[in-house]
Amino acid sequence: MRHATLCGTRNDSHAGRSAASRYLLTPLPLSIAPAPPVIRVRDLSKHYPGHMAVQDVSFELAAGETLVLLGPSGCGKTTLLKMLNRLIEPTTGTVEINGVAVGQQRPEVLRRGIGYVIQQVGLLPHYTVAENVGVVPRLLGHTAAAIAERTSALLTRLHLPPVRFADQYPHQLSGGQQQRVGLARALAADPPIMLLDEPFGALDPVTRAGIRREFRELEELRAKTMVLVTHDVTEAFELADRIALLSGGQIQQIGTPHELLFRPANDFVRDFFAAERLALQLRTLRLRDLLPFLPPSTKTALSKSLFLGEINISLSIDEPVSPNYSVQEALEILTAPEASDAAAAQQVADASARYLIIVESDENAPRYRVALPELMAAFAHAIHHAETVWKS
Ligand code: ADP
Ligand code: MG
Repeated sequence: MRHATLCGTRNDSHAGRSAASRYLLTPLPLSIAPAPPVIRVRDLSKHYPGHMAVQDVSFELAAGETLVLLGPSGCGKTTLLKMLNRLIEPTTGTVEINGVAVGQQRPEVLRRGIGYVIQQVGLLPHYTVAENVGVVPRLLGHTAAAIAERTSALLTRLHLPPVRFADQYPHQLSGGQQQRVGLARALAADPPIMLLDEPFGALDPVTRAGIRREFRELEELRAKTMVLVTHDVTEAFELADRIALLSGGQIQQIGTPHELLFRPANDFVRDFFAAERLALQLRTLRLRDLLPFLPPSTKTALSKSLFLGEINISLSIDEPVSPNYSVQEALEILTAPEASDAAAAQQVADASARYLIIVESDENAPRYRVALPELMAAFAHAIHHAETVWKS
């Protein structure tokens, strides 16, 4: 795009200039070429006798992006993931990491640059927790002191205090603890790319939701480019920048959670989310998406001092929130039982007395004062809008 514009401008003005000066003015393609995607997959297929596990899959992933491979059991997620680091060789197609075909890199070198959390956790049973975490750094020849320091820091960050856990063996840990060790092991050499196959698969739903929240907040993972496999729709929507929904080894649709939910490419995609549609809409739509559908009276021009004054008077009722909150989060605030003290409980006994104040970080932006009924009405309008805008 930028290239085309530059050339266009130049073409208009360089008539009459010498060929040499035109040559000098022509930008070198390399100087403006964007960096290659961190992961580029083209027409990737894996055939087993009588069975196509993965068929013609293509996608690109930018630095720092999280792609979730979602789909029912047996649809080819693990096979696709393992072709990214050559644990499985494709039948046809190519995978490039930072512009270099993985086929040209030694598998063991490749795998050290890519952290991998396997579906069955796969800790080495006769190694302690610390030894398991240190496997890759040892292969890379890091010093014992550096490995010990890194292991200790990672275990602490993953809520496995080293004094208690470093010398334990995998069989002494719960499923959740083992999965944290698996994650620590994949992170140990600080690889820029992480591949995770059902990293929370062995956990019950409650533990799972908790670990997922920690996972999202983990500083270690912020800047990483990740491909994460799951069959859990909620998990996909919570963790993905983009989702690739697979069936029968083919990508049915790849896009943001918003796109898959509100602009399904086919009946498979629509049906896949049907059972959890409302819950996913609550998570996917933000307060920002609702603002155009709130009644004008909810827009308030409270001055800052007045606003602060109001918070002082009734802190437990009027909750300031960002427009980036999901509708789900807003609902949780509006309907949360007031645990603290009896007086506050009295004040909010009538749920309709509770408001959100939607506040932009920009001082001059309008504020919105929204109660539950207005929120739900705007939510209904926003869903209708998202669905019809895409159709037209
Ligand atoms: P998922 O991870 O989505 O559950 P997999 O990628 O493990 O699915 O498997 C995709 C399909 O390929 C399945 O039908 C599976 O039975 C088949 N498959 C996987 N590995 C092999 C193999 N080594 N030989 C033959 N078929 C295989
Ligand atoms: Mg699998």
